[in-house]
Amino acid sequence: MTCAICMEVLLNAVQLPCSHVFDAACLQHLTAHTSSAACPLCRSHIPSPLPAVSDELQRRVEAKYPQQVDARRQLKVQSDAVLALYDAASMGLTEAVHSLLEAGVKLNTLSERDGSTALYAAAREGRKTVVEALLAHGADVDTSDKERKAAKLAAMEARVAAYMAQQQAQKDAQ
Ligand SMILES: [Zn+2]
Ligand SMILES: [Zn+2]
Repeated sequence: MTCAICMEVLLNAVQLPCSHVFDAACLQHLTAHTSSAACPLCRSHIPSPLPAVSDELQRRVEAKYPQQVDARRQLKVQSDAVLALYDAASMGLTEAVHSLLEAGVKLNTLSERDGSTALYAAAREGRKTVVEALLAHGADVDTSDKERKAAKLAAMEARVAAYMAQQQAQKDAQ
């Protein structure tokens, strides 16, 4: 009932023809840049487009691990909002930035786009009014560089962990 790619309880479970199950988002990530992606557990070809999310399976996961699934879902909502803020900031969409800030998006959270904050994105693109709006809402200037380094490190560690898990899975399969 966990996704072998991210090791979390399944969220939007997708079952591949080989019968292995992963998160929809993890599979999308895996297949995003290649047409010949293989199942991390058995190396079977992953079809494109991906099979639909299995509601039946997801219901079973949620019945068994309601809290874990709920926690993941909330994290996802938060990270989607962080991405929206980052994009709005870098494109200079001041109105959108304002409404996201009023909705309470965590504005010092690092975006998955490049591991930097919305403030950094706005500053890099020269979006002066957005920068001012973010600063007025308490965007943190001083920690962004340190945070970027931390985010890079975390991303690297995640890649290493994924690689190790894959190696282990191959060994187990033999
Ligand atoms: Zn996953
Ligand atoms: Zn498989």
